[in-house]
Amino acid sequence: MANSIPTEGSIPVAEIDGAELDTIAIRAGIHRTHELEHSEAIFPTSSFVFNNAAEAAARFSGESEGNIYSRFTNPTVKMFEERIAAMEGGERAVATASGMAAILSTCVALLKQGDNVVCSRSVFGTTNVFFEKYMAKFGVTTTFVDLTDMAQWREAVGDNTRLLFLETPSNPLCEIGDIRGLADLAHEHDALLVVDNCFCTPALQRPLSLGADIVVHSATKYLDGQGRCVGGVVVGNNQHMEEVFGFLRSAGPTMSPFNAWVFLKGLETLCIRMKAHSESALAIAQWLNAKSSVESVFYTGLKNHAQHELAKQQQTGFGGVLSFRIKGGREEAWKFIDGVQFLSITANLGDTKSTITHPATTTHGRLSDESKERSGITENLIRISVGLESVEDIKKDLQSGFVSAGLE
Ligand SMILES: *Cc1c(COP(=O)(O)O)cnc(C)c1O
Repeated sequence: MANSIPTEGSIPVAEIDGAELDTIAIRAGIHRTHELEHSEAIFPTSSFVFNNAAEAAARFSGESEGNIYSRFTNPTVKMFEERIAAMEGGERAVATASGMAAILSTCVALLKQGDNVVCSRSVFGTTNVFFEKYMAKFGVTTTFVDLTDMAQWREAVGDNTRLLFLETPSNPLCEIGDIRGLADLAHEHDALLVVDNCFCTPALQRPLSLGADIVVHSATKYLDGQGRCVGGVVVGNNQHMEEVFGFLRSAGPTMSPFNAWVFLKGLETLCIRMKAHSESALAIAQWLNAKSSVESVFYTGLKNHAQHELAKQQQTGFGGVLSFRIKGGREEAWKFIDGVQFLSITANLGDTKSTITHPATTTHGRLSDESKERSGITENLIRISVGLESVEDIKKDLQSGFVSAGLE
């Protein structure tokens, strides 16, 4: 595969170019040591030794490639980077300490004072704070627009716009951004399109193949898939990733080898998990949609979703996250959430365990009332990340919620 840093004694596993995604997720990026271990090795070492002074000098000068120090070169992290790069169809990936570190590294590496970012309003809350509070301090402005309103994007892009940034589907209302349309718009203005592919993962959507320039991930979510580790990754072409890598080397928001190993194991089951999450979420969405105590269900897999067709064009599945509005307000929503037996009350998502959240008072609690209204984050909205428990058990548990809220 592209961009392998040869490690001493390693045997890169045969090229698998042309293989399908399910195979790539399991086989790409493996480097075996002389022990010929079957499962990927963890290298919990901060530094690496050189055979002699000349070799050390050649490594440091960049004349020869290889391991130096785990802030920026570690074989386990490298295996994760090569595998996810292959899955996203990018030339190279740079792993980071968290999803936010992936966004930070992308922005600091590729933007400079005076640049402008056009960003979807419906992005992860912390991404919003990052742009508005911290990038602004260094003279990078951000213009927020409605994800689905192409005219707003077009109007917002100016001479100094260098980056367009979005998540699709959005959290929690599952709105879809037109990746190809936005990539074309970005390129007309010499800007880059960055897609946070956290909700779909490459198992369901590959933004680079639709024209995006860079993909960022919170590996914390579906890439791990079992709620164990915090991590992130940036994927793109060699030129952009060299810049991101340069920032990582200089600033150090590095992924630990142990976490990289957990994510490698996560990737091996990603395709099969995303299919199962999608199937279960669709079944739950249809079940909720048929209820008279539910006002509306937001899930792109439903035919009545306004952007069902666009979702079908750019995704191969609809993912595991959905939200719905029940009849009532905050009181009913909280009673509903307190009434479930095993769904976890947590803002996290992308886990085998189903989770339930009240966005208006948690993930989106920092928004002003006006922003909440504008974004559709109403008091009666509940978000579920559908896990891999039995669908019938999840329905039963949600049914307890309806009863507790006095709705059924
Ligand atoms: C969680 C999340 C992030 C941030 O990732 P961390 O790993 O928590 O830093 C970014 N984008 C999306 C869409 C997320 O869900």
